Amino acid sequence: MERERAWLDVALFRCPSCGRLYAEASWYAVELGCEIECGSCGTSFNPRETLLDRVMLEFEVSGGRAIGVSIVEHLLEREKGA
Ligand SMILES: [Zn+2]
Repeated sequence: MERERAWLDVALFRCPSCGRLYAEASWYAVELGCEIECGSCGTSFNPRETLLDRVMLEFEVSGGRAIGVSIVEHLLEREKGA
């Protein structure tokens, strides 16, 4: 069966209050700049301020099902240099 590919830009960040680690779509966590409420401690915070990493994930798809995922690019270094 033919292999196809799809991509997702993901942001990795922590709750500044309890330290819980989160991975969210970057368009939501970084681009929109909206506040996120921590599911563990209830603190509202801006993910941009505790951003740890941002990566491009590549999904390998076969017959409409995701069969694998890998990190193909680290996007945070580029942002720091801009
Ligand atoms: Zn928290």
